[in-house]
Amino acid sequence: MITTQLQLEDSFPLTCSRAGTCCHGKTVFLNPWELATIAQEKKLSAEEFSTQFCEWGGIKLKFNGESQFKNQSACSQYIENFGCSVHLGRPLACRLYPLGRKIQNQETHYIHEGKEFPCLADCPTVTTLPQMTVGEYLKSQSADAFETGQDIYLELVQQLADIAFELYLDSGLAASGNRTTLESWKNLGVLSPEELPKMIREDWLTELILPEIKGVENPTEFATTHSQILFGKAQTEFGNITTLGELEKASTLMMAVTLQLARSIGADAVGLCEHWVETAKKHL
Ligand code: SF4
Repeated sequence: MITTQLQLEDSFPLTCSRAGTCCHGKTVFLNPWELATIAQEKKLSAEEFSTQFCEWGGIKLKFNGESQFKNQSACSQYIENFGCSVHLGRPLACRLYPLGRKIQNQETHYIHEGKEFPCLADCPTVTTLPQMTVGEYLKSQSADAFETGQDIYLELVQQLADIAFELYLDSGLAASGNRTTLESWKNLGVLSPEELPKMIREDWLTELILPEIKGVENPTEFATTHSQILFGKAQTEFGNITTLGELEKASTLMMAVTLQLARSIGADAVGLCEHWVETAKKHL
């Protein structure tokens, strides 16, 4: 499939019909702030929303609704003849569609698959598409805060991975000749999205996906508090580890936690794990 890259000022026929094929047969991820936001819009706690409407350990919306288009299952938040039941709290993926977003060399690119947007061709609720720039479209979708949230969680992925690296490289574990930790990191990447959360201890998974943080209005404040919770937990738990066995277990756990968070922002798990292993090997 061809991927087309767009600039903010590029102009296209774009629209959001709020009820259409885009809410059918898709994969929609939620980072922890998006989960808290969509749950609030649904008037549920994040835990209640996650239990009822999410899978893969709380990072993906269930698409188990009745099909309205092309025999594809509808999003669990989709209501027939109405559309999205959580429109104001919908996640970034829904705000961007039919666009995608990719960060490369610290630059943000907007992309789409194929040569043409699918809305006009596939969606019976769309009859005309107004011409607008990518920037205007994003503004119309109030995507700003959600892009900020995504970027902060991307940074947090790197910071959490750094803890796993420190536990391996700076603790004496790597110097002891241990390489099974790197094998464990690599194996995490090939675990299915259902299996990975089962590898993560429940208390860590809860703090990662369902942190107890009041207020979702500001993604920066939410994610900053979230990172403090996770770093505090790591410090308390790993600060006094002395045996090599405990270090290996801790490093692998941190990588699994990191990978789960990376998946919640749509990262390629296999590629990421291979990258981490190669990076560690360069520091041996
Ligand atoms: S959250 Fe709303 S906009 Fe997004 S796929 Fe589900 S129904 Fe559609």
